[in-house]
Amino acid sequence: MSRTPDLPVIESCEGCGACCLVITHPPFYSVFQGLGEEGWERLKRERRDLVLEIVADHRARRLTGEPLSGTPCLWYDPESRRCRHYDYRPLACREFEVGDEECRDVRRRNGIDPH
Ligand code: SF4
Ligand code: SF4
Repeated sequence: MSRTPDLPVIESCEGCGACCLVITHPPFYSVFQGLGEEGWERLKRERRDLVLEIVADHRARRLTGEPLSGTPCLWYDPESRRCRHYDYRPLACREFEVGDEECRDVRRRNGIDPH
């Protein structure tokens, strides 16, 4: 069986955060696509302030023409390289698998791994 011996083993997100650098807003399914996601409903119940922050940032970007994707997530803390509201992170973030192809690709594009 063939294998790829050169790929580094990625065991945790510690010190990375690369996948949070290109998403601009927490990717809740229901925010702008009208699809339901329990995490979004929970956020509305428990952290209305965070909901309003996301909506306000989205509106401001639309008005000013700032990008709606491809920039660091609103919830990303560049100092700690962590999500500021990890317990409330969307399903898409929970399902993004450490060490899978997308993870490796985004790490490589952000200079975290050489390949
Ligand atoms: S790119 Fe991979 S290792 Fe980095 S934070 Fe995202 S899931 Fe974790
Ligand atoms: S919500 Fe949190 S985990 Fe998801 S992309 Fe934004 S900063 Fe990263």
